[in-house]
Amino acid sequence: MITKLTMYGSEIIPGIYVVKGKFADEFGFISSYVIVDGDTAAVIDPGTAGDPGKDTLEFVKHLGLNPKSDITTILCTHGHPDHIGGAGILKKATGASIMIHEDDAVLLSNPSEFIDSRLKLTFAGRMAMKVDRGPLRVNYRPVDPDRLLDRGDTIRIGDVSLRVIHTGGHSAGHCVFYDSARKVLFSGDEVNNFPNDPRKFYIDLSGSLAIRRSSLESLQKLDIEFLLPSHDVSHMMGEVSLQFREAADAILQFQDNVLSHLSARGSADLEQLVFDIQQARSIPIPTDAYSLFTTTLEACLQDLARAGLIRCNEGIWNPI
Ligand SMILES: [Zn+2]
Repeated sequence: MITKLTMYGSEIIPGIYVVKGKFADEFGFISSYVIVDGDTAAVIDPGTAGDPGKDTLEFVKHLGLNPKSDITTILCTHGHPDHIGGAGILKKATGASIMIHEDDAVLLSNPSEFIDSRLKLTFAGRMAMKVDRGPLRVNYRPVDPDRLLDRGDTIRIGDVSLRVIHTGGHSAGHCVFYDSARKVLFSGDEVNNFPNDPRKFYIDLSGSLAIRRSSLESLQKLDIEFLLPSHDVSHMMGEVSLQFREAADAILQFQDNVLSHLSARGSADLEQLVFDIQQARSIPIPTDAYSLFTTTLEACLQDLARAGLIRCNEGIWNPI
């Protein structure tokens, strides 16, 4: 239901616009959302250091707003580079307050933390990520947040109220933003983070599949007519509950798969499990950013260990 098209962005529902960056292969489009009420505007997830970048500013000008005086808020659903990389540049151009949950704030002020602490990488993988120029590139301007978000906070943009819901599944500091008046949920990467296939997802080492599952369960209880993720297309009405169901099923399938591969082997290290799952093709694996799968698998194993289903002894995982 796009009501108005412009050069850079489109109005999804009155006062809520999407600005799409370039198509980024498996990541789909990286989208920023702009919420406008009168002469006040907020940007949700400014994107990478360059994308959508300037397009967001041009779009705001195109709407007749002044970026310096009218953009008051930059909201970050979480701290991954494809969501916050553009925050520093946008802050410089607008002076707006950057807001993020404290558990992901370090990624804003120290970009290399993403590579150093959030991904399961080999030495070669780490080197490759440092020079990567894809959506997860970490060559962005570090910036400190102006406000730390917490669950239950309300963000005001003119008369628009957004409720902050801390979900913490995709990454420890992930939040989604709910506009109850218009029944809109800005879901970031929490419901889905690769387009077109809810079975394809990743979480970082600070995230948790168990937490993601319970977050999806509670989000599903909200009255949502518009689900606006950062990468996929927007979902509306009946499609919304389908997205939630498929995303929750995908987590269960992932966990089941890992458990059955592990019991088939009796014991295995991470590399053996990656190999088995790859051979079996039982879980869709992002081909573009392979380390995201290894990272998700490691986080899943940690979760299953916390649930008392498996244990780890010097890097070797065993079923209990
Ligand atoms: Zn993410």
